[in-house]
Amino acid sequence: MGREFVEIFEDWAEDYDRTVAGENPEYQEVFRNYEEILSLVADNSSGTVLEFGVGTGNLSEKLFEKGLDVIGIEPSEAMRIIAESKLPHMTILDGDFLLYPQITRPINTIVNTYAFHHLTDEEKAKVIKRFSEILSPGGKVVYADTMFASEFEKNRKINEAKNAGFFTLSEDLEREYYPIINNVKNMFTKQNFTFYTKQMNDFVWFVIADYKGKKEEGIILKKMNVESFNLDHTKVKAPYVRLVGVTVGENGDQVYKYDIRFKQPNKEHMEMAGLHSLEHLMAENIRNHMDQVLDISPMGCQTGFYLSLLNHDSYDEVLKALEKTLQDVLEADEVPACNEVQCGWAQNHSLKGAQEIAREMLLKKDEWREVF
Ligand SMILES: [Zn+2]
Repeated sequence: MGREFVEIFEDWAEDYDRTVAGENPEYQEVFRNYEEILSLVADNSSGTVLEFGVGTGNLSEKLFEKGLDVIGIEPSEAMRIIAESKLPHMTILDGDFLLYPQITRPINTIVNTYAFHHLTDEEKAKVIKRFSEILSPGGKVVYADTMFASEFEKNRKINEAKNAGFFTLSEDLEREYYPIINNVKNMFTKQNFTFYTKQMNDFVWFVIADYKGKKEEGIILKKMNVESFNLDHTKVKAPYVRLVGVTVGENGDQVYKYDIRFKQPNKEHMEMAGLHSLEHLMAENIRNHMDQVLDISPMGCQTGFYLSLLNHDSYDEVLKALEKTLQDVLEADEVPACNEVQCGWAQNHSLKGAQEIAREMLLKKDEWREVF
C-alpha cells in the first residue's frame, strides 16, 4: 500500500483480531468465512512466499503450518509487534507494496489478504508489473480482497451500509480503492498472468494469477531458471563479453560468470573442429593470465563460451586476459591435449579453424564491451 492508511492500522491493531472474528457488526460480512479465505490462500501457496500486509500474522500462521518459507512485509509497527509475538521466527520487514527492502531469494508465491485495495488502480498496475519481475519461473500471485463486479454493485453496497447505519464501513468503502474485478483482471492479463476468481462472501473475492512469462513480439517467453534463456538473443550484438551474474556462496566466496560471444546468435556459428581446438587452447592458456579461472566451456549453440571465475570482479582484467589468450591461440603451433588419452574426440580438431575464429574476434575487440 501507499502509507496513507498506516495510521488507521496503528489504531486498529489491537482490535483487528476481534473484528476478523466477527465481533464488529459492521464488518461481519466482510470477514465472513475468514478462516476459510485464509486457508484457501495458504493451500494455493507453494515454495518461498512473499506476504504483503502481514497485519497481525493470521495468514502467516497458516502458511507456516503448511511448512512454507515466508517473508513478510508490513508497514505498521503496531501490527508488526503483534505478528512477531505470534510468530517469533518469522522475518517481518518494514515496507509496503510499493517500497520494501530488496529480496534476493527467489519467490514462488506472492500473497496478501485484505490489503491490495490500499493501492490506487494506477499503483495496482505498477505493483502487478513488479510482481512479474520478482516471481520465479512458474510463480503466482494468490490473494483475497474486497472487489466489486461493477460500479453499480459497489454503489449498492455503499448505500446498503449507510442504510444499516454502518458508517465506518461505508466511509471505508468510499475512502479506500476497492476495485472493479474486470479492471484488476485487465492489469494482470496485460502482464501475462492468467486470472481466476472465486467469490467468498458479499465483499471478498479470492484470486489466483499464474504468471505465464514475459510476452514479446507474439512469442511467449516463459521465465526460465537459466539466466541466458531469459536473454533475448535477437537483441544482442556479437561479439561481446557480458557478465551473466555473480553467485555468492555460504562463506562469501563469489563466482563470476561471463558470456563471451564470438558469433551473432542464429546468424553465424563456429565450426565444431575449430571450436573444439579453441576450447583446448583457451582452457590451457587463459590460466597463464589469471589464477581465478574455474571453467571456460563452449556453448552448445556454437556461438560463444562461458567463463567462470572465483573471487575475481574486474571486468577490465577479463577483457585483457581474453585478448592475451586469443593472441596465444594465433601464436600456437599445436592444439594441447589433442590425443585420445586427454580428449573425448581427438580426431575432431582444427588449429587453423581455431585461429580464424580468434583472429576475427581480436579484430573486433573494440566491440566487446557493447552487448546490445
Ligand atoms: Zn577435447
